[in-house]
Amino acid sequence: MLNLVLFGPPGAGKGTQSDKLIEKYGLIHLSTGDILRSEIAAKSELGIKAKTFMDKGELVPDEVVIGMIKYKLTENNHSKGFIFDGFPRTKEQADALDKLLDELDTYIAAMLALKVEHEELVKRLLKRGKNSGRPDDRNTEVIENRIKVYHNLTSPLIKYYSEQNKYQAIDGMGTIDETFNRLCQKIDTL
Ligand code: ADP
Repeated sequence: MLNLVLFGPPGAGKGTQSDKLIEKYGLIHLSTGDILRSEIAAKSELGIKAKTFMDKGELVPDEVVIGMIKYKLTENNHSKGFIFDGFPRTKEQADALDKLLDELDTYIAAMLALKVEHEELVKRLLKRGKNSGRPDDRNTEVIENRIKVYHNLTSPLIKYYSEQNKYQAIDGMGTIDETFNRLCQKIDTL
């Protein structure tokens, strides 16, 4: 199995690059943001609860997202591997992921971290808000809060994966294809 964490702040391009990577490498895309939005669309109890956090740009509680990932992993345990997009976002989530993968006799091969400047992130998210209609992409305050939450709670995971020698920084400021090629170059060395 090849399991990758695609990492980076909101607007870094994780979803866009995941779509291209799963096609090239035959992996399964696990985006906690996408799963949560489908729960909201289905008006499930989980979705209704998650929405209150997402609308403010806060993180959904760890146990909720960990439970979702656990379910998806056991559902797809014979796949070629996974791309984790938007997960893990806290130390607790990273610990839980390592345990879950260990139970499946597998592990994270690399954390590929997209580097994009703050101003560019805000610009991309506001543009996506206009096109996709995601409510959390329409409001500058919510966008700034998501980036702040990323710096406070999520970016410490760079140290977590560095200590396991899995951290790889990727320049995410270029075009979609430029970033994709940089990611593929790294993945092909794994
Ligand atoms: P982005 O990275 O562009 O902000 P996502 O689709 O990954 O967008 O996430 C949207 C929202 O969903 C987040 O702001 C957060 O509220 C919630 N969310 C997604 N993944 C997680 C996670 N792993 N842990 C907690 N909350 C999450």
